[in-house]
Amino acid sequence: MAREVLVVEDEPDIRRLIVLHLERDGFRCRTAASGSDALREVKAAVPDLVVLDLMLPELDGLEVCRRLRRDASTASVPIIMLTAKSDEVDRIVGLEIGADDYVGKPFSPKELVARVRAVLRRAHPDHPTPLLSAGPIALDPARHAVTLHGQAIVLTPKEFDLLQALLESAGRVLSREFLLNRVWGYARADVIESRTVDVHVRRLRAKLGDAGSRIATVKSVGYRFETDQL
Ligand code: CA
Repeated sequence: MAREVLVVEDEPDIRRLIVLHLERDGFRCRTAASGSDALREVKAAVPDLVVLDLMLPELDGLEVCRRLRRDASTASVPIIMLTAKSDEVDRIVGLEIGADDYVGKPFSPKELVARVRAVLRRAHPDHPTPLLSAGPIALDPARHAVTLHGQAIVLTPKEFDLLQALLESAGRVLSREFLLNRVWGYARADVIESRTVDVHVRRLRAKLGDAGSRIATVKSVGYRFETDQL
């Protein structure tokens, strides 16, 4: 079934251009012309991905993104932000806003479509890896779901990717550089400070409760998921 993208952009020409290219590439599109429309559309039916312009009337893209991340039912919808403000990029893909990727304006529609495909590939791999589990934690890559002692827990997309990377390499040390690359994408390593990894690990540990201590800090290198702990 065709993947559905919600295109949020107040400028009709740009909106049409994005829809044209996405539909040509086989996506189904819905559109919203303001931040509050976007929230309504996502609540009505969660799309597979949101392309979200930063500059919007009423609620801007940053606020829309923040609200989607805060709500458990929309926290994991992939979001690509469109922005002409290069100085905002750190915040957009960082902790504060939590978009999955961004495309700088002016943009090439082809590049945007490529980013949409890449983000969806990360969110829904074609060949899902089997269930990953360690102690009370179980992570299902296909369903993008995590349980702790059998209870579902809500992780942001980055926290999910981070946990998946740690579980896949359980017992091995993963450097901050590796995690930046794996979780935030190759182009992001120069933009996001490694502190971002530390803060995400801290949040992930907190959400994992008693199992959080399994994520061990390896001084001046990175992190390791401990398997030999009861
Ligand atoms: Ca705009």
